[in-house]
Amino acid sequence: MSPLNAQANFAKMRPRLIRRALQQLARGAGVRENFEGQLSRFFDMLEQALETGDTAWMDAIILEWVSSKTQTDIAEGQKNATALLTILFTLATETAREEMNAEEALDAITAVQPIFTYALDKAARLEMENRVAYFANEIASVQQKLEQLDRSKSNFISVAAHELKTPLTLIEGYTSMMRDSSSDPNSESDPLLNGVRTGIQRLRQIVDDMIDVSLIDNNMLSLNSQPLWLSHILDMLQKNLNDTIKERCLNLEIKKFPGSQDWLYADPERLYQAFQNLLTNGIKYTPDGGSLAVDGRTLPGFVEVTFTDTGIGISPEDQERIFEKFGQLGRADLHSSSKVKFKGGGPGLGLSITRGIIEAHGGTIWVESEGYDEKNCPGSTFHILLPVRTESADPRLSKLFGDLTKPKEEKNVEKETRINPPAS
Ligand code: ADP
Repeated sequence: MSPLNAQANFAKMRPRLIRRALQQLARGAGVRENFEGQLSRFFDMLEQALETGDTAWMDAIILEWVSSKTQTDIAEGQKNATALLTILFTLATETAREEMNAEEALDAITAVQPIFTYALDKAARLEMENRVAYFANEIASVQQKLEQLDRSKSNFISVAAHELKTPLTLIEGYTSMMRDSSSDPNSESDPLLNGVRTGIQRLRQIVDDMIDVSLIDNNMLSLNSQPLWLSHILDMLQKNLNDTIKERCLNLEIKKFPGSQDWLYADPERLYQAFQNLLTNGIKYTPDGGSLAVDGRTLPGFVEVTFTDTGIGISPEDQERIFEKFGQLGRADLHSSSKVKFKGGGPGLGLSITRGIIEAHGGTIWVESEGYDEKNCPGSTFHILLPVRTESADPRLSKLFGDLTKPKEEKNVEKETRINPPAS
């Protein structure tokens, strides 16, 4: 059959087809009137496409249907353009079968099918693009809300920390005056004064952490870089944590790993703080009798330090979250009575500060753990990658220490800087 015949046959069944489509798709007089207009336009375009053999005639109406804000504009209900086109094609097939003999019906359907296929493909693509744009928009707005929330958190921490600092300093001052002015020669062991002192120290620690978090949030953490050996810092930590380790019947092994006794520029106090946070966490989340180990290796341009424990572990879905501020996990049985007791909880600032310190050094930190299991204790390993800086950004320090990669005899660094070498 020629396209002209197909067109004539299609024109014949058009009024019936429109009636059926209206019955099926549009309820209510207002919707029906509007939809009837749109259907007429659709079939006008379809006839043009049939006549010319150019499917692009359908573009305008498809674009209009896809971008119509609510689908009630074109049909009542939640139908989208692709669903609507599918229904129209089914109705066209049924109507052709009813209105024409088998051969004419087959010809008419065969003629319109490529046009419907083109229209469906176009509508599906446009709808997908619309959907992607919609979700991209939603994501951007959620992101904006999260950033706002993060800013509020930061502001809160910063204001709270600075407001608490002054009264805390006053309390510290008055308590030490009370101790000094006490006529009791045993005031040092007064349990009441000691209780107050422990409470103040804990509060001071929290306020200091809050100040550090707000410095990191505002990119204001400044490093005081000096030449150091990582093993030196780790040895000091081992000494300072010795009593706690004993008290908790833990075993702490700090290995002398490649790179730990090479000079590099970093901030010793801040690194001490970062390593201490990781070790005290290891102590806190490992049951009595467990083990902690510090090891490492050199990589091109970096030194890697690992902190491993045989503790309760961290589930994969929490391994990113714990580095966020207030990233403590909602475990019901945590208690905040102590910084080192098993499962002694905290405000959840330690790892966020640790990450801030490591990133300020140009390094990175992550954790690996098989998961959280208090019975089998799969343990966790925190990895730190630190860039090995052998030249200082400060020209005065460079002049003083020279190039750290040169052998020690040449620079005589130890004599000049009075930095003690680590105990071997
Ligand atoms: P805090 O210890 O004060 O809660 P941190 O920022 O140091 O805060 O740690 C965040 C959370 O990460 C902790 O509450 C704990 O749930 C989890 N976590 C940290 N270190 C370990 C570890 N070594 N083993 C198991 N869980 C850990």
